[in-house]
Amino acid sequence: MGNSDSRRRAARARQHLIRSKAVPMEDVAVRPRFVADVMLGRLSKWLRIAGFDVLYSNTFDDDELVALSRRENRILLSRDTRLLVRKAVRRFIFLESEDVRAQIQQVLRETHTGDLPGLLTRCLTCNEVLSDVERETVRDTVPPFVYRTQSRFKRCPRCCKVYWAGTHRQAVLRTLQALINGSTEETC
Ligand SMILES: [Zn+2]
Repeated sequence: MGNSDSRRRAARARQHLIRSKAVPMEDVAVRPRFVADVMLGRLSKWLRIAGFDVLYSNTFDDDELVALSRRENRILLSRDTRLLVRKAVRRFIFLESEDVRAQIQQVLRETHTGDLPGLLTRCLTCNEVLSDVERETVRDTVPPFVYRTQSRFKRCPRCCKVYWAGTHRQAVLRTLQALINGSTEETC
């Protein structure tokens, strides 16, 4: 009991320290870029759907996260107080909620993001910006129905995955829009 009490106290102390260390993000570039810790896979995916440049890998260790953040001037997204109290950590957002919707809202709020960078313009696996491809070139890659019904396709230059608008695009857009507007009715 004593142990868990002192652990809780230590965690609270770290949170307090992190909050006082956080600086307002006025100097954030027009398009903030991120690197996210291993606990934030879902948040990373949603931010990529919205078009943000987010480095994420479940193999990044703490040293790599801090180094990437500093070297590439990326905002470190983390729920890990032990990581964020490190002196080397400069630009960061401490995600206090476990709820991915609250997390997205917090990121958009703290980076003063009004407009999304570009819905479904980035590979959700690699984070690469997708390139337009001629419809003809994906004939053998996508399902016949998709080929018949879609006119525009994009491809990831790294993993070669082909993307098209599809019916889920509107649902995704609605969910993100609802998040930006502060509503949490939509599910994700
Ligand atoms: Zn890819």
